[in-house]
Amino acid sequence: MTQETLLDRRTRLLGKHFPLFYDRPLHLLRGEGVWLYDADGRRYLDVYNNVPHVGHCHPRVVDALCTQARMLNIHTRYLHENIVNYAERLTATFDDDLKMALFCCSGTEANELALRIASKHTGGTGIIVSDHSYHGNSATLAALTTAFPTSEVKGPYIRTIRVPDPYRDGQTGDATAAEVATVIREMEAQGIKLAALLVDTLFSTEGLPNVPEGWLKSAVDHVHAAGGLFIADEVQPGFGRMGSHMWGYQAHGVTPDLVTMGKPMGNGHPLAGVVARGNLVNEFAAESMYFNTFGGNPVSAAVGLAVLDVIRDENLMENARAVGDYIQAGLHKLAANYDIIGDVRGRGLFFGLELVRDRTTREPAPRETSRIVNQMRENGVLISKIGRHENVLKMRPPMLFNREHADLLLSTLDRVIGSI
Ligand code: PMP
Repeated sequence: MTQETLLDRRTRLLGKHFPLFYDRPLHLLRGEGVWLYDADGRRYLDVYNNVPHVGHCHPRVVDALCTQARMLNIHTRYLHENIVNYAERLTATFDDDLKMALFCCSGTEANELALRIASKHTGGTGIIVSDHSYHGNSATLAALTTAFPTSEVKGPYIRTIRVPDPYRDGQTGDATAAEVATVIREMEAQGIKLAALLVDTLFSTEGLPNVPEGWLKSAVDHVHAAGGLFIADEVQPGFGRMGSHMWGYQAHGVTPDLVTMGKPMGNGHPLAGVVARGNLVNEFAAESMYFNTFGGNPVSAAVGLAVLDVIRDENLMENARAVGDYIQAGLHKLAANYDIIGDVRGRGLFFGLELVRDRTTREPAPRETSRIVNQMRENGVLISKIGRHENVLKMRPPMLFNREHADLLLSTLDRVIGSI
């Protein structure tokens, strides 16, 4: 009798639709810095994961977690210095008005909470999102999901806009800003008051389009003029990944009313949150009890503090800028050699290559993209793909990625793309 494999057991217990990466799924046992090790002891360069933001199993983060876990962990209805120290350090990284923090355990919870606060403040229910986006897996957010299929009904209170993608559809920034104004008017005509515009400020799921400068500011101006709020989803670009800025919205010259964050915040520990203008938090909390059993507990806050310490002490933002620029230059060199590369994308340590079958027609190359992702894995480098045509290679490594790692990534890409 054959033995049931780990994959068989997973499928039996979690279902066949519970997603896995790669044609040959990876069975990982250990991580360190930018490296991952599988069950056969093989080493992989991690160019995909932003959750281990400061590196897999960073000793300072692990020590902070263990030290506090040995001392005390409890829910958040007692006084404790960690949550206050963390809120102080976190809010210090934001612009002047954004000075209060609420903690939770996932990006989904953060976006849910931000939407509740926006609805309370505006008295509205209308929400505008991008037409190829993902913000979480709750009932409300599943109904807002436009990048993947979901069974939830998309009610009339949800409107979508097309984020400008100069490479693919020529949509200009002015046109998208005007689209925001139009959907607001349409909602109002149906008696729906606007609550919020919610976007990922790097447009990660959309495929990292090189959006024109200034369009988001014009869009947000329309939202504010209609009495709505702007929620910046920083789950992917936040915590310095862009190199130039700690938060993605700062690159657009706009200040949000609410900012949501998660993934990198706890380096793998489930920590997420909302940072907001103080009046919004107080107004919401006066009428709606907000309590999160685990969010911001003493261990989570200790972990969050350690992540901020490492970003500062190891100059990781500066590293993201310098190594990111180096990689961008390398990607442009590759693009000069391979016609399949239609466009080079991204900022800091988050970059993409849009792959096309024909540079003139720009026909997307999703099958080739998938083959490259799988071949990279076979060659020991982990990346993924995104975009509305699933034809953008997605690369977003831990923030301590250096030039040596970059050279390995670029030479492996060169070899794999050359073999396709
Ligand atoms: N917002 C964005 C932009 C995301 O990419 C994600 C997760 N991929 C979420 C929100 C949801 O975060 P979580 O999975 O922690 O609920």
